[in-house]
Amino acid sequence: MKFGGTSVADLERIRRVARLVAAEVADGRKVAVVVSAMAGKTNELVAWTDGAGEASQGLSSSDDEYDTVVASGEQVTAGLLAMTLRNIGVSARSWLGWQIPILTDEAHGRARIEEIPPENLIGAMDRGEVAVIAGFQGVTKGGRMTTLGRGGSDTTAVAIAAAIKADRCDIYTDVDGVYTTDPRIEAKARRLAQISYEEMLEMASLGAKVLHTRSVEMAMAHGVPVRVLSSFIEPGQSEGRGTMVCDEEEIVEKRIVSGVAYSRDEAKISLFGLPDHPGVSSEIFGRLADANVNVDMIVQSHARSEGAANMEFTVGKRDAQRAVDIVRSAQSSIGFDDVVLDEDVAKVSVIGVGMRSHAGVAKTMFGALAEKGVNIQVISTSEIKISVLIDAAYTELAVRALHAAYGLDRL
Ligand code: ADP
Ligand code: ASP
Ligand code: MG
Repeated sequence: MKFGGTSVADLERIRRVARLVAAEVADGRKVAVVVSAMAGKTNELVAWTDGAGEASQGLSSSDDEYDTVVASGEQVTAGLLAMTLRNIGVSARSWLGWQIPILTDEAHGRARIEEIPPENLIGAMDRGEVAVIAGFQGVTKGGRMTTLGRGGSDTTAVAIAAAIKADRCDIYTDVDGVYTTDPRIEAKARRLAQISYEEMLEMASLGAKVLHTRSVEMAMAHGVPVRVLSSFIEPGQSEGRGTMVCDEEEIVEKRIVSGVAYSRDEAKISLFGLPDHPGVSSEIFGRLADANVNVDMIVQSHARSEGAANMEFTVGKRDAQRAVDIVRSAQSSIGFDDVVLDEDVAKVSVIGVGMRSHAGVAKTMFGALAEKGVNIQVISTSEIKISVLIDAAYTELAVRALHAAYGLDRL
């Protein structure tokens, strides 16, 4: 069982969580629980590291002390939940990342889990003790604290479930499942009873923050059945609720499009007047790759008359200014007229495994956006998704228009 920030936001909610855990124990299950920090706590901790960074010049999320600070929120909730469980007569203890241990690589601020030896947890659970685990944190082989990237407690939960070979991983959150789009943006969004790992992976990586992308990747790789459900239910009432993330073959209701996702985390970089000859893209993207900048969407167009080309691509907002500086510093060797950064963009995507076998999905998307007067700047596709880059001001309008165009409000 994993509980997100809103679900453990104060002592009253922690008591609710304890009652949900107690009900599972009363049903005869052995339970491991993963908790996030209280809602808002991690933001506050991150802001403190920003402040410390100013004073000492150059601290950042890749600094190995960043993790020591921002992981502390989960230590508090793990301890409080274990205490609360004991108070209602359930045997429990807290586990921090280093105590299990959850071993990760050394990429501070965005570490990946490499291994979780299950013996300690299984030993405790076999003794009848609920294991209350601090999410989001791990430890390097060298004994330094790490964190898994924002929203990473979901990944802790799935990784633990895989390590202890759990029957299921229940992700309790502030919505009662995975919806056809973010219910905060479209009130007509519908809960999906089931969604395939592949679709969930695209939804998460294209911006639906209901599950951490890496958690879905891990669930898919290890075949962990994941259920997303609300923590605001009564104890013992979880049967048949929420959304099951499962294999495509298990899905009963087939759909062409399952969901619409959006992200405002990208920025667009435009290069004008590039020489039109082999090696130019290789030089630009080679330099960005060397600096660890991830590039997402790319489009190139030829200015027919002059043998020159224009190129547009997107990078994460956090990397945007750095990417522009890298490209600009190579202006004379690459040879281009101008580089322009636009941060007022949003990526809106439609996702569905049914696209593989159905024509006309793109036509519906472009038609619906045109009807609302939304201009498409960049397009990218894969087998099961189509993404467009638009002016950020139209994000909500576009999400709602696409949600209606594919009939998702009528599911
Ligand atoms: P937690 O703190 O429990 O980890 P998050 O805030 O990370 O919760 O994720 C839950 C939120 O994800 C919801 O409140 C909702 O606004 C948002 N969300 C975005 N897209 C979707 C979607 N397709 N289905 C459900 N929730 C979504
Ligand atoms: N507390 C962390 C965050 O806010 C991890 C999580 O909640 O999943 O990013
Ligand atoms: Mg989350």
